Amino acid sequence: MKNTIDFRTYLKNYPSAEGYFGPYGGSYLPVELQPAMAEITEAYQTICHSAQFISELRRIRREFQGRPTPVYHCERLSRQLGTGQIYLKREDLNHTGAHKLNHCMGEGLLARFMGKKKLIAETGAGQHGVAIATAAAYFGMECDVYMGEVDIAKQAPNVARMKILGARVVPVTHGLKTLKEAVDAAFDAYRKEYKDAIYCIGSVVGPHPFPMMVRDFQMVVGLEAREQFVSMTGIMPDAVVAAVGGGSNSMGMFSAFLNDPVELYGVEPLGRGSALGDHAASLSYGDEGIMHGFNSIMLKDEAGEPAPVYSVASGLDYPSSGPEHAFLRDIGRVNYTTASDEEAIEAFFKLSRSEGIIPALESSHAVALAMKLAREKKHRAILVNLSGRGDKDMDFVIENHGFGEKYIKD
Ligand SMILES: *Cc1c(COP(=O)(O)O)cnc(C)c1O
Repeated sequence: MKNTIDFRTYLKNYPSAEGYFGPYGGSYLPVELQPAMAEITEAYQTICHSAQFISELRRIRREFQGRPTPVYHCERLSRQLGTGQIYLKREDLNHTGAHKLNHCMGEGLLARFMGKKKLIAETGAGQHGVAIATAAAYFGMECDVYMGEVDIAKQAPNVARMKILGARVVPVTHGLKTLKEAVDAAFDAYRKEYKDAIYCIGSVVGPHPFPMMVRDFQMVVGLEAREQFVSMTGIMPDAVVAAVGGGSNSMGMFSAFLNDPVELYGVEPLGRGSALGDHAASLSYGDEGIMHGFNSIMLKDEAGEPAPVYSVASGLDYPSSGPEHAFLRDIGRVNYTTASDEEAIEAFFKLSRSEGIIPALESSHAVALAMKLAREKKHRAILVNLSGRGDKDMDFVIENHGFGEKYIKD
């Protein structure tokens, strides 16, 4: 596909009214759920032009989330690597410690405008569950989070957080008892309860209007970062880098820079290597297909079903990415590349030791690519979306990699 897109008008034209980014996106749902999605789309189209909604969301971001989050110049890390300067957009300082709350608060406010009483969500590692439980507590709503039994056993601290926040964690006991089954169970619950509830998807995935809506709610990250970066340095960054799981933190960042002379890099998890099952780099190794209600690029097994995926960062191990990423890949506007578990762990320790910032393992993938670009010395300034903080990952890292003796030589 050739890039003949005018990026000055891109955000107005993409997605189309039916939710398509080129061939990707759309809404592939059972007929019973179509009226529910139409209701959400219509409500969103109305409220995103409402002065009351916009000012309320701004107030929440400022007073509850602590926005704007800063942009920070990593002077010591940059000096160790070469001549390029690395900057971080500090989403780890957003309330709850990651970017996910940006769209969860938007979805919660939308639910309130629609008169809903309950938020329904699925969660894998529990990060989205915690963010949505936080939003539900803030808005005084009920909250049902569907979670595979296997994940419940592995993620005790996040399960506890959700319960403290007042959410009901509903165990999903069929199939492999992980994220895919949790999505199915959450859709099923939503089908029965959509008069009183809204389904809150955790990334720029799922049927229309979610890829658009979640992007719009996350764009605050890119808009803030662009303005902060220019006022700090007087220039545009040469490169903007973000980790891609479902793709929400990266879309939020990229969409503010699409019309600028800036290279955009989406970093997918290469896990243990490029064999199917060892990674979750869907845009790098996948094919077109439909899952969870949308058309995108996905990793499939021999039967054409979503393939098993793996990454050291549990927030990145999803077998597809949002339709807009698939589109931006095809037209060549965003470069998609990978970082392995090993590279992410190295970045985790390097950033912690050189700057006093412990990054989430998801975000460490973006830091790893920024370090690689800085070593190549082709860029003056590299802006990284540090999507979350690493406290949640410390036990795992210490158990498997000690205190990073292997990585800290200088
Ligand atoms: C969930 C998560 C991600 C991946 O999700 P995206 O939708 O791709 O942004 C990245 N970083 C952190 C800290 C997360 O919690």
